[in-house]
Amino acid sequence: MKKIAVLGSTGSIGRNVVEILKAFPDRYRAFALAAGGNVDLLARQMAFLHPEVVVVRTEAHVRELQKLVPAGGCEILWGDEGYAAAATHPEVDTVVSAIVGAAGLLPTVAAVRAGKTLALANKESLVMAGDLLMSLAKEKGVDILPVDSEHSAIFQCLAGQRKRDVSSLLLTASGGPFRNLDKAAFARIRPEDALAHPTWSMGRKISIDSATLMNKGLEVIEAMHLFAMPVEKISVVVHPQSVVHSMVAFCDGAVMAQMGIPDMKGAIALALSWPERLPLKMDLPDFSNLNLRMEAPDLERFPCLGLAFEAAREGGIFPTALNAANEVAVEAFLQGRISFSRIAALISETLMRTENHGAEDLDCILGADARARSLAESLVA
Ligand code: NDP
Repeated sequence: MKKIAVLGSTGSIGRNVVEILKAFPDRYRAFALAAGGNVDLLARQMAFLHPEVVVVRTEAHVRELQKLVPAGGCEILWGDEGYAAAATHPEVDTVVSAIVGAAGLLPTVAAVRAGKTLALANKESLVMAGDLLMSLAKEKGVDILPVDSEHSAIFQCLAGQRKRDVSSLLLTASGGPFRNLDKAAFARIRPEDALAHPTWSMGRKISIDSATLMNKGLEVIEAMHLFAMPVEKISVVVHPQSVVHSMVAFCDGAVMAQMGIPDMKGAIALALSWPERLPLKMDLPDFSNLNLRMEAPDLERFPCLGLAFEAAREGGIFPTALNAANEVAVEAFLQGRISFSRIAALISETLMRTENHGAEDLDCILGADARARSLAESLVA
């Protein structure tokens, strides 16, 4: 029986994790659930999973939760210390890191430091602190299993292969809701248009990232770290059907692709069960009627992708600054404070005003994150 801590259990990924834990009670036990502020959903999850530990964001959320659940039987923690306690609890085997954004970094680092197997959805951790996390994982002998469907696909294509035979990684991108939209119309895009993703159902932040293609840029940086690949060997292919989840090309011209219907449960389940596979009873793609379409991304209409490649090539604290500016810009767009087109411009201006230096340790990374955030905020204002 594997004991699991789900960080971000009330989110889009977290809810899918909970479904899998419910479907395989003989294999998994939800030892800890950590949410932000959605205490109603957390209380419902607690009622059927009976975790030993739950975590919420603030002390006020603890009081709200206490009104909804019977007293005793479960430890209720809050804040940074609470998330770290759940991620490092001696009884936990695997930590699912599915808090959104930079808030996921500290508990993710704590989990790896404590030697926990990590099922990683929070790509922002690797974008901000990839070198640090990967070297810590190596030192502690920790497996980092990707939850992102693209990285899960690449992970599967690489299984049993020699790294030196790999010539490139090809990340597929759906292209988002504005793949065919004229550039002139970008300024009129409303948050509700950008949140309507054509193939994947996801949280708000990643939905906007998918619409700007920043999500793919963050994934390029994630892949660089996870698979120890130089950015020059990583490319992006737009594939609107989202059936090919990503590909690996080898030195003999062979290309391996991993396919499946677009449903995050596949990648999540594999991250929990690897090297086994769970009987998920998923439909297969309709191979009798499958016209796979692939094309190059348009960096002129989607400059965020180019900015992420640039930050990846620069290294140092640039990816951290890129991520911080993006989080500020996405939030400002969702609040109606800036236009869709302004997201990329704001990130670019933040990077231009950021002096790059090495990302040696966590303090240095958190400092760079804070500086880029306040710079981006001042640009929004
Ligand atoms: P959601 O917005 O749906 O969920 C985010 C989760 O994080 C919720 O449980 C939320 O709690 C919690 N949370 C938010 N802010 C904080 C905070 N400051 N402190 C603690 N917890 C917090 O996001 P997704 O599930 O879509 O994405 C989660 C991560 O997974 C992201 O890094 C994303 O890039 C990655 N990912 C997502 C995919 C998807 O299909 N959704 C695919 C691949 C990767 P609450 O709601 O209770 O406030």
